[in-house]
Amino acid sequence: MINQEPVVSLKGIGEKTAALYAKLEIHTIHDLLHYYPRAYDAYEPPISIFAAAESPAVAVGVLLPKAPDLLRFGNIQTVSIVLKEAGVSLQVVWYNMPYIRASLKAGSRYVFRGRIVRKKSRLILEQPEIFTPESYQEVVHSMQPVYGQTRGLGNKAIIKTMHLALETRTLEREYLPEALRAKYQLAESNFAIEHIHFPKDREELLSARKRLVFDEFFLFLLAVRLLREKRVDKESPYRIPASREAAKLEASLPFALTTAQKKALEEVRRDMAGGIVMNRLIQGDVGSGKTIVAILALLETANAGYQGALMAPTEVLAKQHYESIQELFAAHDIQKCLVLVTGSMTAKEKRIAYKKIASHEADIIIGTHALIQEKVQYHNLALVITDEQHRFGVGQREMFGNKGNLPHVLVMSATPIPRTLAIILYGDLDISVIDELPKGRQSIKNCVVGVEYRKKAYAFLAREIAAGRQAYVICPMVEASEMIEAENVLDYTKVLRQELPPSITVEYLHGKMKGKDKNKIMERFAAGEIQVLVSTTVIEVGVNVPNATVMMIENAERFGLAQLHQLRGRVGRGKYQSYCIMINTSEDEDTNKRLDILNHSNDGFYIASEDLKLRGPGDLFGQRQSGEMEFRLADIFTDADLLKKVSEEVDSLLKEDPLLEAESHRELKKHLDSYLEKSYDKLNL
Ligand code: ADP
Ligand code: MG
Repeated sequence: MINQEPVVSLKGIGEKTAALYAKLEIHTIHDLLHYYPRAYDAYEPPISIFAAAESPAVAVGVLLPKAPDLLRFGNIQTVSIVLKEAGVSLQVVWYNMPYIRASLKAGSRYVFRGRIVRKKSRLILEQPEIFTPESYQEVVHSMQPVYGQTRGLGNKAIIKTMHLALETRTLEREYLPEALRAKYQLAESNFAIEHIHFPKDREELLSARKRLVFDEFFLFLLAVRLLREKRVDKESPYRIPASREAAKLEASLPFALTTAQKKALEEVRRDMAGGIVMNRLIQGDVGSGKTIVAILALLETANAGYQGALMAPTEVLAKQHYESIQELFAAHDIQKCLVLVTGSMTAKEKRIAYKKIASHEADIIIGTHALIQEKVQYHNLALVITDEQHRFGVGQREMFGNKGNLPHVLVMSATPIPRTLAIILYGDLDISVIDELPKGRQSIKNCVVGVEYRKKAYAFLAREIAAGRQAYVICPMVEASEMIEAENVLDYTKVLRQELPPSITVEYLHGKMKGKDKNKIMERFAAGEIQVLVSTTVIEVGVNVPNATVMMIENAERFGLAQLHQLRGRVGRGKYQSYCIMINTSEDEDTNKRLDILNHSNDGFYIASEDLKLRGPGDLFGQRQSGEMEFRLADIFTDADLLKKVSEEVDSLLKEDPLLEAESHRELKKHLDSYLEKSYDKLNL
């Protein structure tokens, strides 16, 4: 593969900066080039003061009636002026830039471009860039990329590096068949990469994006189809009959399985006993009860004398599965040896676990992607299950399936994909759907409110906790940031400790903590020792603490709908009435409409389809349905039409040249191989 030089090889990038890039998972020039902007800052034509509203970036055309004032608050010098038009006033401020004042002349026209915030019902334009009307005219309609950033590595720096990388990169050879490019009018790939970063205008951006989305789908579907060829209708070395112990467990659960669960379980049992290798997806909304189906399948496998393994996308979830299965088995007197394997275990703990696995002392193995590392040697591994599959790449799925000798494969996902799309995206799998929630669930009560509601929310939390329940509070950030104004876990924890009665234990959890510490917090929360857990989205998938009844989400506007739905799915998992409080700090109308969808429905499929209507096809700037599958740009919902077309193209290509052996497909084959290889390497969850 080309452009594999490390980022330090770029002029002006030292080890320190490279370490910052590494935080963004950018190691090579290739990684950098494929680090696409999160958004674009479009230099729209200036608006008048009258039209001013909260906005992250807006240009306002003004006529300065007088020179601004220079004010002093403690150490801070502020240049400030209040501008009025037709009864609307807008305060413009610059902090610690006293010299600005001299450059602004009374009676002149300017364009100020910056962020407008609302503080105590006053609109304030903060630190705007200053243009003359003429100089603004030169940049109007241009688009600047906005990248995901990290502390110490701001947008400007990334832009500069990106320019450098584009200038010095090795160009790729075109690998898409010429006929396809012509048919779909796809931009050339090097061109697309350049212009996804620096489009001249919207049209150029759309063309770059279309090409890259096409590629994402194309490579993904090729990989999936080739996997299918490899796996489908293979005879299985493992016949796993239903066991009496599993039936007994099923019958003595504290609840009866839903009809949908029973049906899925039956399909799994039939596959496992049938003599053909199982390749099955269980799709079911959050809280529909997928885990118990997995557990029963694992138990059947163990009872047949084989090993079964369950892979979860996060340590927190792996640990939780391990413990709840442990508990369940103990309560029903089931003697099976469970082993946990995660990245944060010490070398010694790992050695012991590997030994138990290799010697087949372990019947059921649970872990993160650490399960697919080379050192783990299974013995008669007959069933592999991946939970919350959308977090894993196809490559990882395949690697897991390749462990052992043609094990049965079961994947579980809560991503609400319509059946037509699921058949395309999971072309290598049969599908079972759990389309029913357990009986007796009370539907979650939702509200979307502003920050002024916080006090009431805290009082509500305190009441729920007094009644014995627990709560999650989600913040988008781990710690305070100069660049992004949003609540952060560390400060919020302090605030809550003050706001809530001292008898309430408030702790926090975030992805930057050590695995051990995360586990400890999660265990204590599950055990009810912690009443309020302030967390980032690390708890988004899978976590199950049925006693938790309140999910409070700060800066709800910053999350995608699917993500909010997943987060909300952490409550309403038991018999208690549950609540989701979404704090919305945005006044943007579209954002409010989006949140309103969640406010009125708890149904993942409905939410996804309404979201789609709101966003419309090809929407670039809306929140994506959040990282489903492994696409960086593509959105399976808004790009569904293209996805279907690509699927047809992939089918006809493979019909014509099943192994991509033709000379004209050589570049494509090379590209596909490195795509799969990368997907294997993506063990960074
Ligand atoms: P998910 O599908 O999101 O993975 P889980 O499998 O974690 O959901 O199940 C959520 C909760 O529902 C768990 O506490 C589980 O014990 C419980 N549960 C599962 N099936 C049923 C059922 N048929 N009736 C009542 N509760 C159930
Ligand atoms: Mg789950």
